[in-house]
Amino acid sequence: MALVSMKSLMNHALENKYAVGYFESWNLESVLSVIDAAERTNSPVIIGFSGMFLGNDERKVEENIYHYGSLGKAIAENSKVPVALLLNEADKVSILINGLKAGFNAIMYQDPKKSFEETIEITKYITRTAHYVGADVEAEVGELPNADIASNTVKGGELTDPDKAEYFVEQTEVDALAVSIGNVHLLEGKKSELDFDLLKTLRKRIKVPLVLHGGTGISEDNLKEAIKLGMCKINVGTVLKRVFINYIQTYLKSNNVDSIDPHEVIGKGGAKDMLCGAREAMSEEIIRFIKIFGSENKAKMM
Ligand SMILES: [Zn+2]
Repeated sequence: MALVSMKSLMNHALENKYAVGYFESWNLESVLSVIDAAERTNSPVIIGFSGMFLGNDERKVEENIYHYGSLGKAIAENSKVPVALLLNEADKVSILINGLKAGFNAIMYQDPKKSFEETIEITKYITRTAHYVGADVEAEVGELPNADIASNTVKGGELTDPDKAEYFVEQTEVDALAVSIGNVHLLEGKKSELDFDLLKTLRKRIKVPLVLHGGTGISEDNLKEAIKLGMCKINVGTVLKRVFINYIQTYLKSNNVDSIDPHEVIGKGGAKDMLCGAREAMSEEIIRFIKIFGSENKAKMM
């Protein structure tokens, strides 16, 4: 099908009472695994990359956002399902602007170090710029807590205040709002409990579609209830990397790689190809979410 706007995907999801998934990728195998899953289930999907990670100053090799934008755009345009391309959670304005030039048709600015007022000012600029070129903008009011796997703790975070959220959306004219309603970033092993009363209030007062980050750490029941209450975009990242890592770990434990032709391990795409295997395992996990989100077969309706 085609590269379509994130806004149109969210509106279709809202009207038809399902959620569209944003499954965050980081390289070719991972982004293809998202498309594989979406095509196999006939589901609309949002693909994309983390602006925070791609723009991270500590990267060993500086990334060129044009590589990721061009790649994502080509994949979206050649897919069999409707696809939006998001540059997620970037804390540098320059990356977002270059991202728009590179082909991303949705962007999200997020920098917890900035005050609420500063974030409004920067987001206003970003929204105006993105809208000029037909791209959509997501923002977040409140802040998700972060889980720390090493210490098994959850730190920080602030629930979304409905007054602030309403004011923010009016001021900035963003197209989607990510909310903090008990959801947690990076949470593995246990599940967070969502505050459904807060979600109901936010749905009543916020004029734009709502987004739930931290999909990995939310139970199937909570996800379904949130969708019933009007949540129409859900982000999943952490568990996809975990599945990818686990596949490679198991592969390396059970295969003596030294005695296998390297082309069989990487590149040929056969039964012994480790990266293809990881890509398939990741796809299976995405399909599980697509079914929970109710977006299976919704590509046909668009
Ligand atoms: Zn997030």
